[in-house]
Amino acid sequence: MTYTLANIDGRAALVAGDQWYDLETVSGGESGPDPMMVLVAPDRLRALSSVLDQHESSGSVDAARFGPPVPRPRNVFAVGLNYQAHADEGSMEVPDNPLVFTKFPSCLVGPTADVEMRSDAVDYEGELVVVIGPGGKDIDPADAWDHVVGLMVGQDISDRPVQFAAKPPHFDLGKSFDTFGPVGPVMVSPDAVDRDRLRIITEVNGEVRQDCTTDQMIFDIPTLVSYLSRVTTLTTGDLIFTGTPEGIGATQGKFLADGDVITTRVEGIGTMNNRCVRIGDHRVC
Ligand code: ZN
Repeated sequence: MTYTLANIDGRAALVAGDQWYDLETVSGGESGPDPMMVLVAPDRLRALSSVLDQHESSGSVDAARFGPPVPRPRNVFAVGLNYQAHADEGSMEVPDNPLVFTKFPSCLVGPTADVEMRSDAVDYEGELVVVIGPGGKDIDPADAWDHVVGLMVGQDISDRPVQFAAKPPHFDLGKSFDTFGPVGPVMVSPDAVDRDRLRIITEVNGEVRQDCTTDQMIFDIPTLVSYLSRVTTLTTGDLIFTGTPEGIGATQGKFLADGDVITTRVEGIGTMNNRCVRIGDHRVC
């Protein structure tokens, strides 16, 4: 049985079709309302999802307010240059090992949140995001999927001037402004989708900018999970932004402008719509 987890009004919810079900309610109080608490138990998510038809729906998905499905991860890892065509468009060499940086967890927002921009060179990066379920250390690639509780759509929003303000460039700051980590709309179980080949599409105001499949990743999900776990203990709820395919704005001179709407879709998972709002100047560089 597959599952689709959401954060609706700050509470864990299971989604089936166009309806959602409050998780604490369908669990009879056994699970609490915090979306973070259920990530360690994929089997419980599976079991509860299999009996949703015995419960009354809490509401329709259309009218629901979605937050980030994983609101408070301890760590948010991200991977740069993980698609050959994206490395090529920036005239960058593909790294021999995963190029890892972090997005501060404080940048996470939901799938309909505004992106608050503080310069004229803010960029989109549509990505598949991995959610760690049962944590672990020194995870073998062959066991890596056992540690993944779900997959989400994500945007690795990037302020390019800050990213390249220092030499060598530092990724973390320019990609961690408040609101620079939209994720959602739901987290699906890996077995609900073709986990090795998912199509990612990013549109800006309806114009397709990125359209690629995740089988083009240089370092695949098991490799990334294993690699990170050899350095740091992966903890339930940790996120991994797995890298963006080609088509970013910087290489086309098409940065995000006030009022733009970014639509990010991963087939089989869902769609996010985030409006861009220019709220001021960061004066960082
Ligand atoms: Zn990225």
